[in-house]
Amino acid sequence: MGSIGASLDLFSGFYNTINGKLTTTEKTRHGINPANGKPNPEVPVSTPKDVDDAVAAAKEAFKSWSKTSNEERKKAVLAFADALERYESDFGKLLTQEQGKPLQFAVGEIKAGVHWLRSLSKLELKEETIEEDEEKRVVVRHTPLGVTVGIVPWNFPVQLAVGKIAPSVLTGNPIIIKPSPFTPYCDLKLGELAQQYFPPGVVQVLSGDDNLGPWLTAHPGPDKISFTGSTVTGKKVMESAAKTLKRVTLELGGKDPAIITKNINIDAVAQKIGALAFANSGQVCLAIKRIYVHESIHDKFRDAIVAFTKTLKVGDGTEEGVTHGPLQNSMQYEKVKTFFSDIEKEKWTVAVGGKNEDKPGYFITPTIIDKPADDSRIATEEPFGPIVPLLTWSDEDDVIARANNTKLGLGASVWSDDLDEATRIARQLDAGSVWVNTHLELDPNAPFGGHKESGIGYEWGIGGLKAFTNIQTLYLKKKTSA
Ligand code: NAD
Repeated sequence: MGSIGASLDLFSGFYNTINGKLTTTEKTRHGINPANGKPNPEVPVSTPKDVDDAVAAAKEAFKSWSKTSNEERKKAVLAFADALERYESDFGKLLTQEQGKPLQFAVGEIKAGVHWLRSLSKLELKEETIEEDEEKRVVVRHTPLGVTVGIVPWNFPVQLAVGKIAPSVLTGNPIIIKPSPFTPYCDLKLGELAQQYFPPGVVQVLSGDDNLGPWLTAHPGPDKISFTGSTVTGKKVMESAAKTLKRVTLELGGKDPAIITKNINIDAVAQKIGALAFANSGQVCLAIKRIYVHESIHDKFRDAIVAFTKTLKVGDGTEEGVTHGPLQNSMQYEKVKTFFSDIEKEKWTVAVGGKNEDKPGYFITPTIIDKPADDSRIATEEPFGPIVPLLTWSDEDDVIARANNTKLGLGASVWSDDLDEATRIARQLDAGSVWVNTHLELDPNAPFGGHKESGIGYEWGIGGLKAFTNIQTLYLKKKTSA
């Protein structure tokens, strides 16, 4: 067992946090540094008993935490945010070591986490009197749900974990975070840090193998699962949660289109689209995954985005000047490479990239496939890596229909200096977040969620807080005689 001290060593001693204590397990495992294949430190492999213990501790904690004032919860979240900020440099280094993203983006993720904690803590769910007269008052209130579970993927382990912790604890619910087995390190340390600011059982983190997620979703104790990950897994989570009618929020995959009209500054837009398609080496749910450029500017746009893509530096995220790290894990690396094997088989035209170096680490060359068929794999599936199709269009209604012709609906964008044209198109796109002349810009005060198979419900903003509560209507008749 570890001990919780005033200072945090980010680089050794990785423990579960159960009921305010740092605990480990008989069996342990480790992740891999994706830039060099070297093992990262050992982490716990939680057992069903650990799950039972964490759920029991959370249930106990719920009794008092659900009764604390909004001010008290907010104070704890803000103190936690300040502490995370104090350790941002070490958290950033650890994130690069486990996730692969270049250091400046890793530190950027920690900063975003701090920003999310602070912004969400400014929100408050107030009771609302929706009707009142001499005889009666009708009040709508939001009551805490109980124990919640946050299941987190490996692409943004810190930001996505704090984006679940904050709304859960601010609304009075203890939370158990389950990181991806590929990236448990920062989340375990978040749990350790949280023990200094929250009572035992309010914020707990369990690491484990592939059994842990299903154990948590099937367990009768938790009242809600907030899940971020793939659509395939999201369906399993919902199926499992249905047996106990747990509430679910599902943040799932995307195949975001970007529609580029002819009314643009080609060089500026090509750079932005390139940056947004290849951000985090394509491992972003909201990365641009289909580029539709107006036919009349295709050649110029292609040349500009190719020139930009050639400036990207792929490598170990700790090296100076590296803009794009490796893919996070071997499973994802092998999956993305199947799109590269399809290049020859499907006779795709490569505008840039197309070949990967044979060297240690899961490195993939940023690649653009020029004008593949609309029904090709690269135009329909989510590779979750730095390979993207460049498609063309000429008819506005047709490109809108093509952009919407997918089961996914996470994000979408329109690019034009004619704001009327851009908003006209934007309003017809079927996605949870739609941008004009940008993409992937998120705001903790805005709801974030997907349409269609990109998810159910949404997170963040005041509505995201409500999703961690039950609604209750109080019908108050003022007199027994009335
Ligand atoms: P994943 O679905 O494989 O795993 C996500 C998490 O679920 C991990 O913690 C994993 O251990 C856990 N898990 C796996 N099987 C489970 C089960 N049966 N029951 C419960 N938990 C289980 O996803 P990933 O590969 O880690 O992440 C990539 C995917 O996530 C992409 O599709 C991406 O678009 C999506 N994503 C979505 C958002 C969003 O907010 N919409 C954000 C980031 C990533």
